[in-house]
Amino acid sequence: MVSAKLQKIRDYSTKFATNSFGMAQYEFDLLIAGAGPAGCTLALNLADKGIRIGILEKDVFPRNKVCGDALSGKVLNVMKRIPGGIYDDFLANVDKIPSRGIRFIAPNHHAIDIPFFLSGTNDQPAPGYVCKRNDFDNFMFGNLQKFQNIQIFEGESVIEVVSREDYILVKTTHHEFRGKVIAGADGVHSKVRKHLQGEQT
Ligand SMILES: Cc1cc2nc3c(=O)[nH]c(=O)nc-3n(C[C@H](O)[C@H](O)[C@H](O)COP(=O)(O)OP(=O)(O)OC[C@H]3O[C@@H](n4cnc5c(N)ncnc54)[C@H](O)[C@@H]3O)c2cc1C
Repeated sequence: MVSAKLQKIRDYSTKFATNSFGMAQYEFDLLIAGAGPAGCTLALNLADKGIRIGILEKDVFPRNKVCGDALSGKVLNVMKRIPGGIYDDFLANVDKIPSRGIRFIAPNHHAIDIPFFLSGTNDQPAPGYVCKRNDFDNFMFGNLQKFQNIQIFEGESVIEVVSREDYILVKTTHHEFRGKVIAGADGVHSKVRKHLQGEQT
């Protein structure tokens, strides 16, 4: 059953038609399948570029995802490049513990420490963090809602992607979408990748 959150869909001018089954059809410049870290990062990087972005997410946030909860320096460097102070907001407002290195322990109990920082000091902010995946993903997802040109469709699973002459047609569990471009950020079993590469789904 689809959560009531699905009803949260904001009805912008992007709704262009209703098909013969009464299904609403929406049109965007960019469609992004998946609102995990990849989908959110892409949308937030393009949020101020004046394009209409539609995000199609099969789950309803906050959603769970198996993870070790580690945020490496590479992740933080990507966050620093997202416009709008996302990184500073993360440092100030998201629960996490700093991570300053890794300790590998062998079966004979010998250990080796690999520090993340070069200076040998406890630099602030930390070079990495451990943060509950729910909290991290929900933080990124929450930032999407600041932008009028980003429309989020939760509880909306991509089931078919068709390349047409001048647009991409995307069928989901509840609607149809047209986009000039689609980004497949729908995880390791990406429906978008399978359809565009002609793989069986
Ligand atoms: C056991 C395990 C532990 C891990 N630990 C770590 C770690 O500690 N640190 C780390 O950095 N990385 C870790 N990873 C890797 C990390 O989880 C991935 O790199 C990361 O999730 C990729 O982000 P993503 O946005 O590409 O995909 P995802 O996070 O998988 O997001 C994809 C999104 O697409 C949605 N979606 C899927 N199918 C559809 C569809 N048909 N239609 C619409 N939406 C759809 C999903 O609901 C999801 O929200 C771990 C992975 C595993 C398996």
